[in-house]
This record gives sequence, C-alpha cells and structure tokens, in this order.
Amino acid sequence: MKGMTFLTATLAILCVTPMIARAQSDRSVSTTSTQAIVLHAARLFEVIPGRIVSPGEVLVEGGRIQAAGTSVPHPAGAKVIDLGDRTLMPGLIDAHIHLFLHPAPPSEGMQTVDESAPQRTIEATLAASADLMAGFTAERDMGTEGAGSADAAVRDAIDAGLIPGPRLRISGMAISILGGHEDAIGFNPSQHVLGNADYANDTEQLIETIRAQHKEGASFVKIYQAGPDEMVPSGSAPCLGNPICKQLGIGEQAGDPEFWNFHTTYQYTEDQLKAAVAEAERLNTNVGVHCQGEPAARFAVEAGVASVDHATQLSDGTMAMMKQKDIPAVPTFTIFKYFADHAPSPAAAARENAMLDYKIHEFKRQVAAGVPMAVGSDVGPFPHGTQAAEFSLMVQYGMTPLAVLQADYVNGARILMWQDRVGQLKNGYLADVIAVAGNPLQDITAVTRVEFVMKGGVIYKGGPTAESAGNAR
Ligand SMILES: [Zn+2]
Repeated sequence: MKGMTFLTATLAILCVTPMIARAQSDRSVSTTSTQAIVLHAARLFEVIPGRIVSPGEVLVEGGRIQAAGTSVPHPAGAKVIDLGDRTLMPGLIDAHIHLFLHPAPPSEGMQTVDESAPQRTIEATLAASADLMAGFTAERDMGTEGAGSADAAVRDAIDAGLIPGPRLRISGMAISILGGHEDAIGFNPSQHVLGNADYANDTEQLIETIRAQHKEGASFVKIYQAGPDEMVPSGSAPCLGNPICKQLGIGEQAGDPEFWNFHTTYQYTEDQLKAAVAEAERLNTNVGVHCQGEPAARFAVEAGVASVDHATQLSDGTMAMMKQKDIPAVPTFTIFKYFADHAPSPAAAARENAMLDYKIHEFKRQVAAGVPMAVGSDVGPFPHGTQAAEFSLMVQYGMTPLAVLQADYVNGARILMWQDRVGQLKNGYLADVIAVAGNPLQDITAVTRVEFVMKGGVIYKGGPTAESAGNAR
C-alpha cells in the first residue's frame, strides 16, 4: 500500500503449506468430480436471509452447488463428508490483496527494487496458496507493484489447476501519475528508479494504459486516485485550502471539527476518471481506486468506480452518493493496524496510531450513514493467510458480524463482477465452500478458524478428505 520494501523471507507464508495440493498430471482444469459430494455439518450460514440453519448440507456435483440447506438429496454413490461441529459457509472473498508483496516490517521496505519479477512471482504463488488455505476462494489483486503483468501468469496457473490459489481478478500494475502515489520519489534521480505503477498523466494516456494492461491479461483496472496522505493539526484549512473542495460543497463538514485533520492530494479529475470507467466498461470490467480522502473520493464516486478502497475520509455528500449508487467502501483496517503495531519508532507509532484512530472515527460515521462496505485487507505487507483479521476489526469498529459477512459475500462478489457465481451457497453457484469452527454470527473470529476448503468442487483442506482431492478429479 505505501511504498517499497526490504526482503525478508516470510516464514508465515513459507510455513503455510497446502494440506492437499491438487495433482497436476494432465495440466487441465477438468479436475472437478463426476462423483457427487454431500457436505454435512452442524450448521450452515445462509447469506441473504442472514441466518444460521442447523444442521447444514451442501450437494456438490461437477464443480457446482446443486442444493444447499438443512438437508439435500443424497444421490446414489454420493460421497458424504461429515464435517462435524462446524459451520458451512461460502468461500471468503478478499476484495483488496497484493499477492506480489510480502511482509518487511515496519513498512513494505525495498522488495520492489531488490527482488526480480521472477522471484516475486514465485513468492506470489506461495501467497496464493496461503490465502486459499485460509478460506479465501476469490480475491481481487490490486496491483503487482512493479512486477508488471506477472499476475496474469499466476492467475492462469491457478485456473489451469497447476497450483493452488483463489479465483483472481487481476489488475497487472496499478495506474498513477508522474510524481504521484507509488512513484519512486526521493531516490537519486540519476538512478532512474521506477515507480510501482504504470504512468498515465491525462485521459489519452489513461485509455492507452488500460488497453495495454488488458492486452497483457488484466481483468480490471486499479487506479491510484489519491496520495500522499497525512494527518494535519486541528484547524487546518479544508483540503489544504483547495478551491475544488469548496466547489464540491465539501469545504465544510458541519458538526465534525476532526474531519479536516486528514489531508490527501487528488491525482485524477472527475472527467479523467469518467473516461477510465468508460474504457473499462467497454472491456466489460470496472475500476477500483486507492483513495483515502476528499476531494479525490468525490471525483471517483461521481465517475462511477466499482469501489473506494481505504476510504478513510468521506464527506457527507460523498457518503450519500455512495449509498445512492451502491458503491462500497473497502476500509482495509488490517494493514493500518499492522503498520501501527510494527512502527519502527515511538514517533512513527504515534503517527500510525493517529491515522488509525481517525480512520475508526470516520468509519463509524460511514456505517451510521449507510455507506455500503466490502471486505478487503490489503494483505501482502502483512502475512498472507492471516487476513481474516479484517472481519474482526470491522466488527470491533462498529459493524455487526452479520453485516460484515454480507458485505463480504454480497458486495465483494459484486465488485469482482462474479455475483452470479460466488458468495452464496446456492444452486448453480460454483462449489466454493468452507467450514469453520464455531458460529460466525456469535463470534466473528470463527472465520480465522477455517478447517475445510473446497474450491470449484475440489477439496484443498480438511480432515477426512485427504483422498477426496483425488476422487474429486
Ligand atoms: Zn493495496
């Protein structure tokens, strides 16, 4: 999210090995079972009605869900897998990840400079496996940060069944302006250090860059719409005195003097973003933006982006528009908490904690205003496979467990444009099913205890199922 990092072998990633990796002899995707599987457990979470039923059963055939509920047909010859005292749920969705980043506390260090794209690609495959084993069966990768379109190779290898990993929406590199967020500012100019995004400085360049990324395999567009971000003293001028804020009617935030303690710089105008969204739509996809605050958020929401990521500061008018247009915010608390907990000095810790406190304060306003939410962790700078912490933080900071789960499954699927195939245990949907210990509506930390993982009808993790992965071919 923030910059570049230093190489550290990520024990957390390397230690998480798949319990069952799919066999790969035929290099094909046709690994789904012809044999029906019935999953049985003490409970099942129904996403849309928002309730737990007991017991729970899911009938899987040909990689898809054929039925789900308290009981399902048991066809002759079906393999019944009893998962005991667990809750069946759809596979989790992470709407904001970076497979190509690994931890290098206190920030992201210099990994994008130090490590080659091939090296980072190998690490990305380990990250994909770790995320899947943690129950994340669908993810949106928000940028390789310097590894070009290498994410297309990882996505394609997963889809071909060559390596374990979630279904992926990928962006290739993010897009940013010269001298903007994620550009390599502050290095010896003679060294020509490259930024972590593809440059686009105007509408024409935005469209050209989107087309080039599409050519290389990107399946959505990630744009840096704001940055750098900073906390400023109380009483500072709104938007650093930017007249555009006044034009937009977000120059004053009545009743909330803390609102303008955070400042960020916008990167693209509303018209430029509209052109980017139109080009993405021409390609039958959408645009996600890194955007921490105003007026950048207003421009993005006016333009019709799919989500506003980080979304630390949203004015009343922008919140109302997000609700009306059903554009989710993706708060990404886990990364902020991680940086606050791993700051290199007391002064840095104070800065990170001030930002987190502000973010929590504004999040409560956003929840109260009815801003749609989705769940995205920004995992990468913290260990892959640990990002279910995001669910707990969103509950801790003001949402109910049910609201967070529905935000994840419903809005997450919609952001990924897969609302017709993932995020529900429903007839015809892809058989992406997990089982967790405990009841997630009573204790949201249940999603950190994923003990069974099935994706597309193939079992990747889970007690009695070691042989089922083979059977599922
Ligand atoms: Zn990110």
